[in-house]
Amino acid sequence: MTNIISKWRLPPQADGIVASSFTRSPEYLGHPLVQECSVRGETVVPISLYSDGVKVCCDSHPDTLYGIYVNFIHRDADECTKKANKHVVTVYRKSDVCDETLTDIWNIILWDLKALAVGCKPRLGEEVKPLEEQVPDEPLGGMWGVWHKVCLMQIRGDWAWYCEALGAWQWNCKSYMCPFCRARRDGRLTWKNFSLQAPWLATCRTHRRFLRDMERSRRSGFRRGPSPFAFESRILQAPFFAWTMIKLDWMHAVDIGVLVYVLGEVWWSLLLHLGSHVGGRNLLKKRLGGVRALKARIKKYYADHHVDSRIPLRRFKLTKIKSGRTGPKLKVKAAQARKLLPLTMQLVAEFRNVDGALGENRFQCVRHLCQIYELSNQRELSDADLTNWRQLASTFMYFYVSCGFRVYPKHHYFFHFPEQIARTGVPRDFWTYSDESKNFQLKRIFEVCGGRASSCQQVLLHLEWLFRLEHLLEDVEQVFTCALTSSPGK
Ligand SMILES: [Zn+2]
Repeated sequence: MTNIISKWRLPPQADGIVASSFTRSPEYLGHPLVQECSVRGETVVPISLYSDGVKVCCDSHPDTLYGIYVNFIHRDADECTKKANKHVVTVYRKSDVCDETLTDIWNIILWDLKALAVGCKPRLGEEVKPLEEQVPDEPLGGMWGVWHKVCLMQIRGDWAWYCEALGAWQWNCKSYMCPFCRARRDGRLTWKNFSLQAPWLATCRTHRRFLRDMERSRRSGFRRGPSPFAFESRILQAPFFAWTMIKLDWMHAVDIGVLVYVLGEVWWSLLLHLGSHVGGRNLLKKRLGGVRALKARIKKYYADHHVDSRIPLRRFKLTKIKSGRTGPKLKVKAAQARKLLPLTMQLVAEFRNVDGALGENRFQCVRHLCQIYELSNQRELSDADLTNWRQLASTFMYFYVSCGFRVYPKHHYFFHFPEQIARTGVPRDFWTYSDESKNFQLKRIFEVCGGRASSCQQVLLHLEWLFRLEHLLEDVEQVFTCALTSSPGK
């Protein structure tokens, strides 16, 4: 048996494929802990931290409930986001949170991570000691006495969480707006350059570059400078922390970013045509007529197709597309927006020959975005696919800008995806729709606690997580035993 273990290899990538599941990605295979352990036949279970907020209403005071989850990401695409691989670590209210709360939460997480990375369970009671004095509990031994280590390798969340919990800078920061590269608002490195030769592409941050920027910022007391962390964040103390662990989240960056801008802009530009039969010269009346026509189209589309995430049409008003002085942006949930893309494709094809050049540009813009979405759905991506992706993204932005639509920093983040995919694996491996479904569970816990996440509840959650860990070990035995016999690319 020992023989088989020592010969154990991670299943290699199939021919020509450059991105698939995380455990086949360069980031996992090149991880220092994985390299060290593979020699001894030990396994390293990669985990990711994820956070998202959910709106709650308590005593008529609107509030946000933040959840922090741990995902086990050692399985193949699709499997990673299933419920058994996810766990709620803690829940806290935005209005309750102060620096101390976050410090406490991070201390608990760091206490877990530190023990897990050396292949041990965290020992209760040690969490109160400083990190370097903590002693772990018994080893996470497998059935052949093989050691399993569990290591944090990814962090995902929305910008608000990166800013509040991790201490990262604001995305609308005047200079150095992007945490992933050194793009600036203006000048040569402007983030608004969407060509394939954009100078900022050469400035993407590696961990080493991040440390250098960090050092430069530290010298000025983090008051200014190019570090993505405004102050020294607690997460820096996580074992094997690397800046590249912090990931773009498909849902936050694309579905409720790039996509809702496209849908909003395109629909807004089509309203006058859809409502051309009403209102005479009154533009507002025409637009309101357009919204009614659009509503009828959506209703028909939902009736003809099996769509599971539908927008509530009763509340569908002009303000859902554009409100106030800001540019058009469709106000819908991520999954709902995705499901509206095919309908929008039909609309732009129908109105391709109106509005002159705008009609054609609008059509090409949506068509290119559809193609990128198709690529993002694939379980495996080849080198050619990624080259195609880059090309499509650049052409998409060319048509988007040609339509006169507004650009936002999320359009820039969109350009970081191919590079991140080559490093980490396909996006379907880490998009977070199923994480969203956990929001119901969060709300339930919140209600059970009577509107207060009590310390008792925190302890319960942590015990539940430890129970999950036990369960994970059985799963790891299974997955890695399968890996011994499975053929490449399977
Ligand atoms: Zn960037």
